[in-house]
Amino acid sequence: MVRDAAGLPELAVTVRDTTTWRMDAQLADTYRRSRVLIAGDAAHVTPPTGGHGMNTGIGDADNLAWKLAAVTAGTAGEALLDTYEAERRPVARQVIDVSLANSRARGGYRIDDELLLSAAYASTAVVPGPDAPARPALDPGLEHPEGAPGTRLPHLRLADSSSSLDLVGPGFTLLTHPDGAAWRRQADTATAAGVPVTLHELTESEAKALELPADGALLVRPDGHLAWRAPHPTADGAGLREVLRRILSV
Ligand SMILES: Cc1cc2nc3c(=O)[nH]c(=O)nc-3n(C[C@H](O)[C@H](O)[C@H](O)COP(=O)(O)OP(=O)(O)OC[C@H]3O[C@@H](n4cnc5c(N)ncnc54)[C@H](O)[C@@H]3O)c2cc1C
Repeated sequence: MVRDAAGLPELAVTVRDTTTWRMDAQLADTYRRSRVLIAGDAAHVTPPTGGHGMNTGIGDADNLAWKLAAVTAGTAGEALLDTYEAERRPVARQVIDVSLANSRARGGYRIDDELLLSAAYASTAVVPGPDAPARPALDPGLEHPEGAPGTRLPHLRLADSSSSLDLVGPGFTLLTHPDGAAWRRQADTATAAGVPVTLHELTESEAKALELPADGALLVRPDGHLAWRAPHPTADGAGLREVLRRILSV
């Protein structure tokens, strides 16, 4: 096979090692037991028919890293770690189902590279909107680009040609209308209390494109997923503080 592939019938080839690989589809019953958390192929073995195995594992790490950092720093309660399984296991379940269906498709299949970008999380680390529809973990139709809580902050080209995605992190990010003074006070209070929140004032047209309600704000988690669509700042600053407490399980 090597000589055929190289097109060199006389090529000297030495086989140094061989290994057996078996296509599999397995999902761990639980991603966490006490202080042990599993991610990547340890948590889910995915048929390669779809090209999602490593991408799903990277998504696990992306989801878990900021939660572990917050819990070990003492700014989040341990229960935040339970949201890791709640958010990531349904994604792996759907990836396995899609990949298995691909492996059985006789007429070929489409590699949908964008599929994992549609991940929508539902857990206590997300504040759902009042009329939030029940969503599957992944949306093969990619039909929710509006940035609902739980989904990734959508890419939006900003006035300075950068992307809205460049605004995210390293801690929580709050996106507001041009005059975000009331929100800035709330963000400063949270930061002083040990939960860093960086505020970015958008232009009016950027805020409109992200469907920010009047006086509202978008709270983005360190992993780029939307945590909260805030309707308006409260006079006593309790809004953001309470929501962060709920998200961080403290
Ligand atoms: C044919 C094929 C095609 C694929 N194509 C794609 C693709 O197109 N896109 C995609 O996203 N994914 C693809 N994948 C899947 C991807 O390769 C895996 O999902 C990914 O490598 C898993 O990463 P991981 O770090 O979780 O596990 P691994 O890569 O398995 O890493 C685990 C590591 O732990 C080490 N280890 C094990 N036991 C111990 C121990 N006791 N102590 C210390 N170290 C230990 C192992 O040696 C290994 O290095 C493909 C897989 C295959 C087989």
